[in-house]
Amino acid sequence: MKSLWNELDAAECENELELRVYSSRLLGGNPELVLHGGGNTSVKIRETNLVGEEEDILYVKGSGWDLATIEAPGFTPIRMAHLQKLAQLESLSDTQMVNELKTQQTIATAPTGSVEAILHAVLPYKYVDHTHANAVVTITNLPTGKQIIREIYGEDVVIIPYVMPGFDLARMVAERYAAEATDSTRGLVLMNHGIFSFADNARESYERMIELVDRAERYLKGRSAWVIPQHYTRSENRLELKQVATLRRDISQAAGFSMLLSLDCSPEVLFFCQRPDLASISQQGPATPDHVIRTKRLPMLGSDLPAYIEAYRNYFYLNMPHTGQDMSMLDPAPRVILDTGVGMFTSGKTVKEVDINADIYRHTMQIIQRAELAGGWTALPENKIFEVEYWELEQAKLRKGGSAPELQGEVALVTGAASGIGRACVDSLLARGSAVIGLDLDDSVESMRENPAYLGFTCDVTDGSAVRDALQIGIRRFGGLDMLILNAGMFPGGCHISELDDASWRQVMSVNLDANLSLMRDCYPFLKLSPNSGRVVVIGSKNVAAPGPGAAAYSASKAALNQLARIAALEWAADGIRVNTLHPDAVFDTGIWSDEVLESRAAHYGMTVQQYKTKNLLQTEISSMDVAELAAAMCGPLFAKTTAAQVPVDGGNDRVI
Ligand code: ZN
Repeated sequence: MKSLWNELDAAECENELELRVYSSRLLGGNPELVLHGGGNTSVKIRETNLVGEEEDILYVKGSGWDLATIEAPGFTPIRMAHLQKLAQLESLSDTQMVNELKTQQTIATAPTGSVEAILHAVLPYKYVDHTHANAVVTITNLPTGKQIIREIYGEDVVIIPYVMPGFDLARMVAERYAAEATDSTRGLVLMNHGIFSFADNARESYERMIELVDRAERYLKGRSAWVIPQHYTRSENRLELKQVATLRRDISQAAGFSMLLSLDCSPEVLFFCQRPDLASISQQGPATPDHVIRTKRLPMLGSDLPAYIEAYRNYFYLNMPHTGQDMSMLDPAPRVILDTGVGMFTSGKTVKEVDINADIYRHTMQIIQRAELAGGWTALPENKIFEVEYWELEQAKLRKGGSAPELQGEVALVTGAASGIGRACVDSLLARGSAVIGLDLDDSVESMRENPAYLGFTCDVTDGSAVRDALQIGIRRFGGLDMLILNAGMFPGGCHISELDDASWRQVMSVNLDANLSLMRDCYPFLKLSPNSGRVVVIGSKNVAAPGPGAAAYSASKAALNQLARIAALEWAADGIRVNTLHPDAVFDTGIWSDEVLESRAAHYGMTVQQYKTKNLLQTEISSMDVAELAAAMCGPLFAKTTAAQVPVDGGNDRVI
């Protein structure tokens, strides 16, 4: 590991806090040191307050900030004098501690300071850096970890036994540091947790971290415990998508809310999952308290998940009642599931959470395997893991969550997603917290949204195998399908029946009708497995109730689709699947309606463009977003008890009424 300190960059920093931001980002950008909000840093600065008094302020990383991207407002300023008094107390609950951190900060709007703030305050150095460096965590999880740490570092670090982060750890550090630090002390190693470095200037503190971690890495490399060999066999059995959706449903039911589920079958993951000792190494708990993820090993997909969930629940009720905490807050659903045949599934309420769980566990796999190569992996005992999971602060975080977005943890598929009503539906669904799979003939569908919850596929809906390929990738990524928005359709130029040729009639029918039948048929098994019951929304047309001359193929195809939706509502009600239709009219902000076309149509009726756009009873303009919002609402709780409804969104039409 090398120092990335650059004197030119550092010289741009105008004050001590900016230097703190600079070196924190250097740490945060290295995944061997810091992962997803892990680690924290601080700087102690003397300041003059509003009434002219000088006071020492600890600027410590605030919660919700990531070291990789932190900015000055991400550091919470807290009065040192008070923190030092707190450190003298016999005990302090986590709730009290958070209250003290909050009430002693000098900027009211700053985030809550890290739970390790008091620990930073008791270390008598200006700069303090803390990471959960993989190499150090690996070694501190070995059976003789403490001896090895002593061997590697000698007097350079003080060793702290495992204590959960918070007040007790700060006290332990203060005591051990006072008793054991010498002139050569430049860091602390926290067993099963991580490492601190400190110094009176930013560069030295940062470079001590790099140097200390580098020694741990070199120790592991010297024992051939750094590079992990990879041999694996890819399962011959084709992954059954229905099994994935079933697993997701079971997990969601255990959690009590809809969850996403994502599959990783990369070579390094498969190698880990196929280790003969997987049963023991995967069930021993996390590498560090920041890496707490409930892990379940399945010999093969579809096996004993319900038994696991029950066992987890029992463990919890039998072992944790003395804490007096609200036990209903934590769900028993595993967040990582390892399958020897297909790889690793990670679950979570959002795509972001799913990806963080996957990333953390991939690093955990690395730590476990390096530890196995170096002498054997021994993680924290199980009671300590549960201590972390049911930790007061974690509970508080859960309680603070507020109400979840309406469609959080759910997955929708939208056809014709690249423009107009389809694209607006993608946005309305994403805004409600849903993951979205978009299909369109236009390849802009693939890159139109830079949101990890969105997956776009260039796909002709009349090509059944292309649709099934997209479903395959989408379900491996998100775990299932809850909502189907049938939007793709075509509106050919006006043509009277007397001139309508068979080919164009069939083309309209195949896009507007046949493709939707195939989609409904292909999606049905997944909609049926939706933890929150499946939903289909059909984008119909005013033409169903009020057809116009010259649009025979279009009107007939939409009318037939309307009938298909009504039958689906009848057939699928027993599966809890709701099928509703909305009938838009005169939506002009779509690709077909260029300014030219609009002007010529308006002129045809002797109207201005504005009059033409609002020629409905309410004299209002209908936008794609108006239609999309109604479609998304039909997927939400407002329509939970409605199926087979047909709702116009047309500003009122006297021919329909
Ligand atoms: Zn830590």
